[in-house]
Parts: sequence; C-alpha cells; structure tokens
Amino acid sequence: MGYEITLIPGDGTGPELVAATRRVLEATGIEFRWDVQEAGADVMDRYGTPLPEAVLDSIRRTKVALKGPITTPVGTGFRSVNVGLRLVLDLYANLRPARTMPGIPVSQPSIDLVVVRENTECLYAGIEHDVIPDMAAESIRIITRPATERIARFAFEYARANGRRLVTAVHKANILKATDGLFLHVCQQIAAEYPDIAFNDRIVDNMAMQLVQRPGEYDVLLCPNLFGDILSDLCSGLVGGLGVAPGANIGRTMAVFEPVHGSAPKYAGQNRVNPTATILSGVLMLRHLGELGAAERIEAAVRRVVAEGTHVTQDLKAARGDPTAVGTQEMADAIILAMESGEPAG
Ligand code: NAD
Repeated sequence: MGYEITLIPGDGTGPELVAATRRVLEATGIEFRWDVQEAGADVMDRYGTPLPEAVLDSIRRTKVALKGPITTPVGTGFRSVNVGLRLVLDLYANLRPARTMPGIPVSQPSIDLVVVRENTECLYAGIEHDVIPDMAAESIRIITRPATERIARFAFEYARANGRRLVTAVHKANILKATDGLFLHVCQQIAAEYPDIAFNDRIVDNMAMQLVQRPGEYDVLLCPNLFGDILSDLCSGLVGGLGVAPGANIGRTMAVFEPVHGSAPKYAGQNRVNPTATILSGVLMLRHLGELGAAERIEAAVRRVVAEGTHVTQDLKAARGDPTAVGTQEMADAIILAMESGEPAG
C-alpha cells in the first residue's frame, strides 16, 4: 500500500537536500508514492504564481508533504510561498525541536528544547502598507484568542504526549500590552487546564539571553509567530547550526515537514550543505505517519554518523575548509549505510 506524499523539492539547495532525504526514507523499506510538485520563483512564468493551486490540491489530497526550502525575494516581490502554504492550509502549529547530538561541539551540553510557534498570525499576517512611500510604512500585528488558544493547547498536548515537564510562554507583554498581553493571558488560562505540566513565561529578550546561558532550564517554548521564528534559529545555533534543525507545520488534518533553514542559495548545486535538517524533518514525518520504528532507525543512524564525525558535511567539521568534509549525497549514503548495519547510535 505505502503512503502517497506530496514532495516539494523547493529551490536553491532544496532539490539536492530533498533528493538525499528521499533516498534515506526509501531505504527504510517503506513504500512511498511521491507526488512531486513545483513551487517558487521558477514556476512564476508558467503559472503566474509561485504557489500554484496544484500544489495545494496535492497536499489537500495526500494530507502530508515533505518540502525543501523556497527562496523569498527580500524587500520586494512576491509573498513568501512558505508563509502562504501555512496560511492557506491553516497549518497553525510550527514545531521545531532542537537537541544536541554527540559529536557536534557546542557550548552547552544536553540541550533538548522544542519551539512551538504559532504559524498563522502575528506580523506574518502580512498586512502592511506604505504610509508615505520611502518615508514611513506600517505593519499590523494580529493576535487573536482563538489562534492563541489552539496553539497553547497544541503545546500542552505535545508536552503531555512526549513526556515534557514545562511549557514557557514567550512574549513582549510589557511593551505590546494589547497583543502580547492577550497572548500571555490566554496561555495562562490554557495552562490552568493542564495541572500536570508546569508553566511559566519569559519576556522575549530575556528569553534569548537565558537560552544562551541556561538552556537546560527550558523545555517547550510557546511563542507567537515572529519570536518563534527568531528563537528557533537561536536554538538551532545552540545545537550545531541550521544544518541540523528539523521542522514541521501541523494543521488539523494536514502537515508539511521542512527544515528550519532557508534555501541557502549561495551553495545551490554544490552538493555541499548538510542534509541532516531535511532528513530529520523526514523523521518527524514518519512519526506523524505512525512509522515509529523506521523513524527511530533513521534518527539513530544520523546520530551515529554525526558522532563518528567522518562522513559529515563542512558545517560539522571543526575547521572551515576541512578537506575531509563530504558532500550532501555522501553524508546521506553514510546514513543509509549506518541504518542498514543496524548498530545503535554512537
Ligand atoms: P538560510 O537558512 O537559507 O541560510 C543561512 C545560512 O545558514 C547559510 O548561508 C548557511 O551558512 C547556513 N545553512 C543553511 N542551511 C544549511 C544546511 N542545510 N547546511 C549547512 N548550513 C546551512 O537563510 P537566509 O540566507 O536568510 O535565506 C535564504 C532564503 O531562504 C531567503 O529567500 C529566505 O526567505 C528563504 N527561507 C526559506 C525558508 C523556508 O523555505 N521555509 C525558511 C527560511 C528562509
């Protein structure tokens, strides 16, 4: 039978990362029927939009997508395809785990954090305009009770289902009294429904400092959209960089799995960037599908390859320009080999 999955290669380094991940997923022996769908700047000419309706229809049908990153023009041009997908399909929860792996030199050992980021509102609603062109511009930040209630419930349910002990709401309610005041108030109300999970809150700037100095004191971070985006990159940095940070966008009936990082266009086509983040996004996808054994096997193989530190990409080598670094596809090959040999993680 297998699974029909929408596969969006994306652009920049996306296609090579997705190709590597696809090979690793197929090496589990699970049968996948990939519905490959193109999105981004490259399809603008053909469809008149970077997010063709066929992509959305495919995900509505398959319910699950694996996606490479897609470039968004900075300052001008079309709206982010990544944000568009999340909004149109109402993928309201962005889940971004950050966990240290043996073999990656980090300043703080044993980090195991999960960022739960509200994915549909805040400044990403994209409601902005010029007040006076080239002089003043305005953006509207939307926070609503229904969206905050459902992301807070998602965070507490996730904590409960995954043996987590603490949810921390992150906000700027001292300054943004209406928007983040509402966010914090609703999070406090939902927290009261989950007496088995501890709850606290932190102002976002303090949170950033605490994550650098005392990340072990935190567990699940419940964030509005923009703060969640920024802090999840910070958490990626704590555990070895964007090359190892996976993500999932989860809605009521559909889910899209993609790395935290972007398209890293300067490395496109060079077989150079780290496939781990995309492969671990595939692991999140397998867990979502209930394929827990296959997910464990891939994750253990990734951890073993990273711990051994031989067949890893440039970003995981101690020195820049290390000639022993391998390419994207070769690291994926090593992960497949480690999976097939079945030895436990190093
Ligand atoms: P980026 O994440 O693409 O890259 C920043 C830096 O992180 C890179 O220069 C590289 O040093 C490192 N990096 C990223 N991925 C890596 C990997 N797999 N292995 C090793 N190192 C890696 O961020 P950016 O340069 O700010 O954004 C580039 C484009 O990606 C922009 O157009 C942006 O809008 C887009 N973007 C897309 C998504 C998405 O598709 N969900 C997310 C973020 C950014």
